[in-house]
Amino acid sequence: MERPFLKWFGIVFILTINHAYAEYAEIILLGTGTPRPSIERFGSATLVSAGGKYFLFDAGRGVTIRLQQAGITPDLVETVFLTHLHSDHISGLDDLWITGWVWQRESLLQVYGPSGTDQLVRNLRKAYAADISYRTENAGLDDDKAQINAQEISEGVVYKQGGVTIRSFLVDHKPVTPAFGYRIEFGDRVIVLSGDTTYVESMVEQARDADVLIHEIAAASKKLLQRNKRLRQVVAYHTTPEQMISLLQKTRPRFTALNHVLLFGVDEQSVLAKIKAEYQGEVVMGYDLMKIGVGNKITVNKINAAAYE
Ligand SMILES: [Zn+2]
Ligand SMILES: [Zn+2]
Repeated sequence: MERPFLKWFGIVFILTINHAYAEYAEIILLGTGTPRPSIERFGSATLVSAGGKYFLFDAGRGVTIRLQQAGITPDLVETVFLTHLHSDHISGLDDLWITGWVWQRESLLQVYGPSGTDQLVRNLRKAYAADISYRTENAGLDDDKAQINAQEISEGVVYKQGGVTIRSFLVDHKPVTPAFGYRIEFGDRVIVLSGDTTYVESMVEQARDADVLIHEIAAASKKLLQRNKRLRQVVAYHTTPEQMISLLQKTRPRFTALNHVLLFGVDEQSVLAKIKAEYQGEVVMGYDLMKIGVGNKITVNKINAAAYE
C-alpha cells in the first residue's frame, strides 16, 4: 500500500538530520599551556571534530595523554595542522605519530605546516629509525604506515573535503615566520584559532563572523616588564589583555576561549576581569579538556577524564 505521508516524513526526517549534522562541530582544548611545564596546562593542542573527522591543531607536550583522557586513541587522529614550529607546539608530535602507528592508524599521518615541516618530519623518521625497525621486525607492524605525509602550506585554503574547509592565514609572531592562524568552516559554522601571535589585522578579518574564537593571551606585571628586557620581547610577540579587548570589540565572536595562557606576576582572574570590564561578549579562560559544542547553541563542558581511564 502506498503511504506517501510516511515517505515524505522520512525524507523530511533525513534532511533534518543531515542539516543538524552539518551544522554541529566540536572543539576540545587538549593543551592550553606554553613552554612552561604544567600539570594543569599541557602544550598547545586543539582538536576540532567536524564531518565525522578529527583535525588536530598543534601537537604540544602531552597531547596523546589528553587525547586518551578524552576517550580518543591516537590512531584516530590522522590530520594535524601546525601553526608554527616553536617546540611547545610540536613536542608531542612524535608520540602521537608513533603511538598512533602502533595502534594501527588506518592511513598515514598527514601533517600540514609552515616551511620547515618537511624537514621536521623527515628528521623524526630518522630519530625513530631504531624503534621503527624493532616494531616492524618483531611486532609485524607495517613500515610503510610509519611514513608521515608532510605538506608545507602558504596562506589560503589548505583542506577542503567532506564539507569542511580549513584556511590558513598569516599572523604576526615575528621573528617566527611564517606563523599561521587557522579558520575552520563547516556548514555555517566558523571556528578560528589564533596560534601564537600579537595583535594583527588578519585576525580581525578572520574572526569577525566566528562562532568560536580560540585565542592566545599573555600578560606580565608592570614591575616585571620594567625590570626584564627579555620578558618585554616575549610579551611583544604575544597578545596582551589590552590588545585582546580591542580585537574582541572589533570582531565580537559568539564565544571566545583564551588559551596558551602565558602570565608573569599576574593571575588568570585579574586578566579575565580586565578583559570583561571592557567587553561584554562571552569570553572565558580556556582549560585543558574543555569541550565546546558549536551548534545553534554553544555548549561548554569539562570532559570527565576518569571515565576513560
Ligand atoms: Zn607557543
Ligand atoms: Zn610560539
